[in-house]
Amino acid sequence: MNLTNIRTNRSQYNKVFWNALSEERIVVQTCQTCRTKQFYPRIICNRCQSDDLKWEDLPLVGELYSFTIVHRSPSQEYFPNVPYVLGVVKIDDGSGVCVQLFANIVDVSIEEVQTGMKVKATFPILEDMTTLAFTKY
Ligand SMILES: [Zn+2]
Repeated sequence: MNLTNIRTNRSQYNKVFWNALSEERIVVQTCQTCRTKQFYPRIICNRCQSDDLKWEDLPLVGELYSFTIVHRSPSQEYFPNVPYVLGVVKIDDGSGVCVQLFANIVDVSIEEVQTGMKVKATFPILEDMTTLAFTKY
């Protein structure tokens, strides 16, 4: 599987996440009031609405919680990549709090992909941008 031409929009709310990827780190917002970790980035905590959020690192390994195999390209840019696997990866931060991230599952045959599979982060560089994907661990 290949990734090409996938672009993202960077905003004031998610640029910390994207910048951390270039250092091969995954960071998510952690609420300093209730300790909820959230992904995707937001301006307030999705649990208690506090705006006291700090970015904290996540481990780079997790478990494939769910996935789908995309056979029909959602746009022209993705057409060369089909079929590809889009997964929900569950990462335990070490304290029992889990965060779920959406990402492509790469460098593993589609037939091998299964829920519960251990995965590790990989940081493909596409043109000038570091992205996040996961591969079999
Ligand atoms: Zn909170």
